[in-house]
Amino acid sequence: MPMNIAIDGPVGAGKSSIADQVAERLNILHLDTGAMYRAFGLHALRSGVDMASEAALSALAEGVDVQVRYENGAQRTLLFGEDVSELIRTGEVSAAASAVSKWPAVRRRMVRAQQEMARTADMLIDGRDIGTVVLKDSPCKIFLTAQAEERARRRYLQQMAKGDTTPYEQVLRELNARDEQDMNRKTDPLRRAQDAVLVDSTNMTQEETVEAIVRIVEEVYGKQ
Ligand code: C5P
Repeated sequence: MPMNIAIDGPVGAGKSSIADQVAERLNILHLDTGAMYRAFGLHALRSGVDMASEAALSALAEGVDVQVRYENGAQRTLLFGEDVSELIRTGEVSAAASAVSKWPAVRRRMVRAQQEMARTADMLIDGRDIGTVVLKDSPCKIFLTAQAEERARRRYLQQMAKGDTTPYEQVLRELNARDEQDMNRKTDPLRRAQDAVLVDSTNMTQEETVEAIVRIVEEVYGKQ
């Protein structure tokens, strides 16, 4: 059985960067499932379909080709063979990803692909439904969160460093809107699995958070 670790949490909890570092420490791959929903969101935007139409999104999900490749251990996300890893990091694509990911047909498609990958390799997977659906039998689940204001502050600073001047208030508003949508959808909403260990990083540095998660993994799988 491959080693499979599930990390879930809300927007801006630092899942992606923390998961990258934990995976590197453990020398295993990190699958960022949000990137897959983002790639599908980009496809929906480009196709001009009505994001509120379940029929349209289900049909689009049938024909989509989203794949993940690793280059020197780093994930690249491909949409019909095009590397969209950078293109999917805009606010517009974030909102589209959240809108499309509520439809069951879209989720089924992505979950199946994620489970197939998890069967073939030791993997740390981060997302919203990993502990509850994708890896629901995993013995190692973490729910990573932080207070909304702190998550927005971190996101705001990150965006500023990239030259994006979106005001803090707007970052907080968008973050809350996306969480609201992710937590309240009918299919596989964001929630902490009963057996997930809670890590609240509000008052922790990145290094402390990585350390805490590595310790949780080692308690389950032994020292790596
Ligand atoms: O993690 P990230 O913020 O990149 O995810 C983008 C969006 O994709 C989320 O807001 C959520 O709606 C959706 N998502 C999901 N299930 C996952 C991962 C992401 O529904 N496992």
